[in-house]
Order: sequence, then C-alpha cells, then structure tokens
Amino acid sequence: MKILDGKALSEQIVESAKEKAAMLEPTLAVIMVGNNPASAAYVKNKHKACEKAGIEFKEYTFDEGVTQQELLDKIEQINNDDSINGVIVQLPLPAQIEVPLVIRAIDPAKDVDGFGAYNLGKTFLSPDFEDLPPATPLGIVKLLDHYDIQVQGKEVVVVGASNIVGKPISTMLLNRNATVTTCHIYTEDLAAHTKRADILIVAVGKPDLITEDMVKDDVVVVDVGINRKDDGKLCGDVDFENVSKKASYISPVPGGVGPMTVAALILNTIRAAERQRQSS
Ligand code: NAP
Repeated sequence: MKILDGKALSEQIVESAKEKAAMLEPTLAVIMVGNNPASAAYVKNKHKACEKAGIEFKEYTFDEGVTQQELLDKIEQINNDDSINGVIVQLPLPAQIEVPLVIRAIDPAKDVDGFGAYNLGKTFLSPDFEDLPPATPLGIVKLLDHYDIQVQGKEVVVVGASNIVGKPISTMLLNRNATVTTCHIYTEDLAAHTKRADILIVAVGKPDLITEDMVKDDVVVVDVGINRKDDGKLCGDVDFENVSKKASYISPVPGGVGPMTVAALILNTIRAAERQRQSS
C-alpha cells in the first residue's frame, strides 16, 4: 500500500508556483464570516500557502450577524478592484445568508474556488474547457496524476454528490474517460457500488462510512472527508487502518486531499491573474 501524500505534493506545487507568482504579483482575497474554528484553520492554511508562493493575501472578516447586503457589497467592491485577482468566501456561512446569491455575485474571472455556474459549466464540458475548476476536485485530479494513476477505462465510484466535491469530481473523471458512479444518501446498497471501484473517492463527512468489507483488493482510495473525533483528532470518512490493508493507494486525513485543495487554490489564483493580464 502506498500513501497518496497530498502534503508533500502540495508543498512541491506551492514551491513551483513561486516563479509565476513573482512575475504576476497576484492577490487573493478571502472573506471570512464568524469564528468557526475549522474555517479559521482552513483560512490560516491558505494564508500560509500564499505567503510561501508569493501571493498577497487579503482577509476581510465579518461578524456572525453580517447581512446579505454587506457581503454582496464587499464582493462587488472586490470584483471592481483591479489589484485583486481572486476571491473566495469561506463556507459555511450563517443561516441568514443565502449561499447561492453570494457565489453568484463573484466575478467568474476571480472565482478561484470554482464554485460558480460559469466555471462549473466549463468544467462540465471537457478538460480543454477547464479554466478555474473547483479547488478540491482539481486537487484530487493533480494527486492522481502525480502518482500516475490512470483513470481512463477505470471504474470510479464517488460517494457524496455535493456541488463543490462529489458532482464536479465525478464530471472531471468522466471527462477523463472513467466509468463513473456517483452515490449519495438515497443510494441503495452503497457497498454493492463501492466494492466495484478501482478508484473510490469519498466526500461525505461521516467517520468510518467506508469499511474494509466495502472495498476490493488493490483499490485506490481518495478520502476527502474531514471529521473531528471525540479526542480532537481529525479523521476522514474511511476506516484508514483496515481499508489501507487492502488498498494499493490511499490518501490519509490529515495530509491528503486537504493540502491539495490549498495547492489547487494557489494554481487557480495564478491562472486567474494570468488570464486577467492577457485580457487587459
Ligand atoms: P456535503 O455538501 O454535506 O455533501 C455530502 C454528500 O454526501 C451529499 O451528497 C450527501 O447526500 C452525501 N451523503 C450523506 N450521507 C451519506 C451516506 N450515508 N452515504 C452516501 N452519501 C451520503 O459535504 P461536502 O462539502 O461535499 O464535504 C464532504 C466532506 O468532505 C466533509 O467532511 C467536508 O469537511 C470534507 N471536505 C474536505 C475538503 C478538503 O479539502 N479535504 C474540501 C471540501 C470538503 P445528501 O445531500 O442527499 O444528504
């Protein structure tokens, strides 16, 4: 069994982004609402990676009671600010905020999380159309590519069908000629699907959802889930200890997809800056 070491690969990607960053001098803006500790930790990691890559990082923080209009105003201001190349709004947002309205307000050219309809639509078409693909799926594709894991013709099973992970990674791998099954909460007999997987991608948010008896020998496992156990430690959605005994490759939590998401954000920020320079 080999580990899909997202941490090491992410460091390489960030390091190799330096050259372009020095040329483009990009700026990433992050909008953070409230003080959810998990969100604060993700923002901190993004800040650190930007510092390493040479990307300027601007953080705009709002308290939990922020109104929809205040957030939309800030996004509009950032959209119109030529010195800012990319913007992300750290999710989750408080209940009074309608997330689709916020995502829709972001200029597609600066949507470096790739959550908006324009960038998702391009991702849907084919790899040639991909421009700013959603960061976590892009990170997963980079991780599989780095370890030379072929997806063409393979049975890929994705568990979880969210707009930010499950659906776009299903599409991106379909576009790379895999045979893709996407499972979700209404899937009957999840194990019947996961057992067929050559490559199993799990993005649900439930510890130990995937157990040893649900996978075949030599499966490649990408665990996207991030859960906090009672002892405070992080774990994924896969029973790592036992599933890793059967897997050919497996991504750990932490140290797998999480750092790759950050690396993908760096790549998208540089790409956004390049595109903006070309079109100016
Ligand atoms: P989400 O929006 O809650 O989506 C979870 C998906 O899993 C939904 O499609 C849900 O179906 C489905 N699901 C729930 N229970 C299931 C079950 N028992 N069997 C099969 N499918 C089930 O979450 P998300 O944003 O995609 O995130 C998923 C996990 O990945 C979370 O732990 C999150 O923290 C983590 N995450 C990690 C990264 C990273 O960088 N590593 C990035 C993003 C997310 P319904 O919608 O029908 O309930």
